[in-house]
Amino acid sequence: MNTIVVVGGGAAGLQLAIGLGRTLGKRRRARVILVDRSPTHLWKPLLHEVAAGTVEPTVHYTSFALQAERNHFEFIQGDLVSVDRSHRVISLTAGGEADTSGARLRQLAYDKLVLAIGGVTQYFGVTGAREHALALDSVSGAERVRERLHAALRRKSAAALSPDREASKVRVAIVGGGATGVQLAAQLRRTSYLLNRYGVHQLDPNRDVDISVLEAAPSLLPGMDGELAARVARQLAKQNIGIATGQRVTAVTPQGLTLNGTEPVDADVVVWAAGVAAPALVASFGLAVNEKGQARVGPTLQCLDDENVFAIGDCASCRPANAAKELPTRAQVAFQQALYLADAVPRHLAGKPVRPFVFRDYGSLISLAGGLAVGSLASVKGISGWYVEGRLAGLLHNAIYRRHIVSINGWRRALAISISHGLERWLGAGTRLH
Ligand SMILES: Cc1cc2nc3c(=O)[nH]c(=O)nc-3n(C[C@H](O)[C@H](O)[C@H](O)COP(=O)(O)OP(=O)(O)OC[C@H]3O[C@@H](n4cnc5c(N)ncnc54)[C@H](O)[C@@H]3O)c2cc1C
Repeated sequence: MNTIVVVGGGAAGLQLAIGLGRTLGKRRRARVILVDRSPTHLWKPLLHEVAAGTVEPTVHYTSFALQAERNHFEFIQGDLVSVDRSHRVISLTAGGEADTSGARLRQLAYDKLVLAIGGVTQYFGVTGAREHALALDSVSGAERVRERLHAALRRKSAAALSPDREASKVRVAIVGGGATGVQLAAQLRRTSYLLNRYGVHQLDPNRDVDISVLEAAPSLLPGMDGELAARVARQLAKQNIGIATGQRVTAVTPQGLTLNGTEPVDADVVVWAAGVAAPALVASFGLAVNEKGQARVGPTLQCLDDENVFAIGDCASCRPANAAKELPTRAQVAFQQALYLADAVPRHLAGKPVRPFVFRDYGSLISLAGGLAVGSLASVKGISGWYVEGRLAGLLHNAIYRRHIVSINGWRRALAISISHGLERWLGAGTRLH
């Protein structure tokens, strides 16, 4: 029996393992194994809400072991450290927070290997960025943003009675005006209001909490629709969020950051949301990679120099025939690639012809907190320029996450999960208060 190993149970990998488990695994036509360093899955587009405290990650976790049992695949918790492509064997360490030994615990043979290990923050070699800025590429990173913000609000709140109001200002600088940066800015603004309402701090959320987005490109959301970027910029301005475009952050320090090589800017919290690259590990497998270290894949998502290794999601560099450039690092891409491979891998194993992957762009939605969002929708019957704003856009944004829950849990469980999420929100304060 063939063994298919999927490494990484994120937006792409979990979806794929479930798809393969429900077909090949259930009929015992192949052994399907999912490997992840963590025991639980969290949908990554929630991370800015974890950082703002508006989402409690434990409520949204799903256990890989549970999904494996329900969907006919095996789950192994482990951290991928190397791939021996000539013998088709991968090596894993134990994975998880407690894994500090780095000892190789097990080897796993594969017939087909799918790399779906996601992306990491790209610092572009900026001095001090890795050491002093916070990153949103993991739950622990997101939690650190929340803790740092709370600490700054409480500390400055104590100084708020001083006549020097400038000294009691909290300054949050978000480096990178892409989707992650702007969504985080809006969430943090909302959180600053909620924490004031519950007496966690006594600062004026509008006047005493400065939130700025710093972007090196001439406009927000580089690479996305210009009209969408303009609409998002207007909404952020209404929320009193500072937007500085054409500004290059050249250093990050314990006190803040330096702009354009010379201008120091004080900041209590600096979040680096300026880019995504593949983990350095991918390049060590001897596969062809692009400048971001993402594995280059061909039309069927097989790595260019190894037909037994596939790469999907943020760790892959994919440019399908119908796309003008490499696909962006987005959940929509990861999801479609997973659905494609769930169909294509069994065909490869059966020696059947496999059609190339085609990406369908359904548009972009940017959430702006409090159930609001702004979005541009894909062209319908050749007519482009469809935009949605406000609560309707917020509902559409939420629907993307709900679809993810349905696709991994089925309709009935997804309904129960969504009701429990709604109850959790209704019972809580709207943000974590500690
Ligand atoms: C704050 C934020 C907001 C976002 N908002 C949006 C949005 O609104 N819309 C959108 O389309 N996209 C959004 N994205 C991007 C989206 O989350 C990613 O494109 C998507 O999650 C990529 O899926 P993936 O499966 O490639 O990687 P991930 O979802 O990151 O999953 C990678 C998995 O691999 C595991 N892993 C990593 N390394 C190893 C290893 N060595 N061994 C074993 N396991 C490993 C990880 O534990 C993880 O489970 C957002 C991202 C962030 C950070």
